[in-house]
Amino acid sequence: MRTREEDAALRRKAMAWLAARTNDGLDAIWHEDLKDFEFQGVRRPLKDRQLGIYKPKDLDAALSISTVFRREGDDRPYDDAPGADGLLRYKWQGDDPEKFTNRGLRRAMELQLPLIWFWGVAPGWYKPIFPVFLVAEEPDHQQFVVATDPIQNFEASGMGREEVFRRYALRMTQQRLHQPVFRSMVMRAYETRCAVCKLRHSVLLDAAHIVEDRAENGVAAVRNGLALCKIHHAAYDAGILGVTPELRVEIRQDILDEIDGPVLEHGLKGLHNEPLRALPRRRSDKPDPDLLAQHYQKFISADGPWSRVDAAWIGGVSE
Ligand SMILES: [Zn+2]
Repeated sequence: MRTREEDAALRRKAMAWLAARTNDGLDAIWHEDLKDFEFQGVRRPLKDRQLGIYKPKDLDAALSISTVFRREGDDRPYDDAPGADGLLRYKWQGDDPEKFTNRGLRRAMELQLPLIWFWGVAPGWYKPIFPVFLVAEEPDHQQFVVATDPIQNFEASGMGREEVFRRYALRMTQQRLHQPVFRSMVMRAYETRCAVCKLRHSVLLDAAHIVEDRAENGVAAVRNGLALCKIHHAAYDAGILGVTPELRVEIRQDILDEIDGPVLEHGLKGLHNEPLRALPRRRSDKPDPDLLAQHYQKFISADGPWSRVDAAWIGGVSE
């Protein structure tokens, strides 16, 4: 049996691996590709081929749960609507509470271990949701209660209650105040135009951060911002599009080599080596060359993963 430390390391590595392969859990993964995961040099599965609950032999507790894809109108074997408390439920396997899979889940709950939830989105395709935690068992209904956001289960986050609520409050302040104010400032400075393509429709524009805004207090400065349309924002964040400190656009080589429809041709490839087309009038609002250089260095040196998963929720990655 693995030690507690090895168990924790395996879970962290599995989640970091999934984050890198699924665009931080945004994309689904093909079940065959799940077989490529390795821990300590050995391939090992992340979900059971048959059962919904995966309890590896060498672990004390379950590692993942799965929900099978059902087409609309098909009978769902399990009810996946949230309960009155807003939390999801996951059914036991069968009726026997002592079945090894159900015991494996109970153990994960007792030890407050993070689990991966593989949610079927098409035959053989799963969207991984992680980390999730089991917060209670409801034996009368033969099910566990699942917290899908660490805030729903602060005990499992390894942080104290105050720290978790501080983070939550911070997140809310960011979402309700700082991001909207930053957006308004950036949109005014760029006169509601994408810096890369000059698109003018506010609903299609974002205020992107040149480098990730780690400062927790206060609104980021416009010089760390770029008004970008949705496509160029996503491309910038994903490392497909870079901006040099001299305000020139570059597109990643593999994208330049690709042949596809008009959005790729004109919307990305056609902008390679072009100057930014919209900039603030005020000097102090213009993109900061040092910040641009930081992102640009990352853009030219790395081809991914550009993981944005908040490592604090999962823990550091080590083996
Ligand atoms: Zn654009």
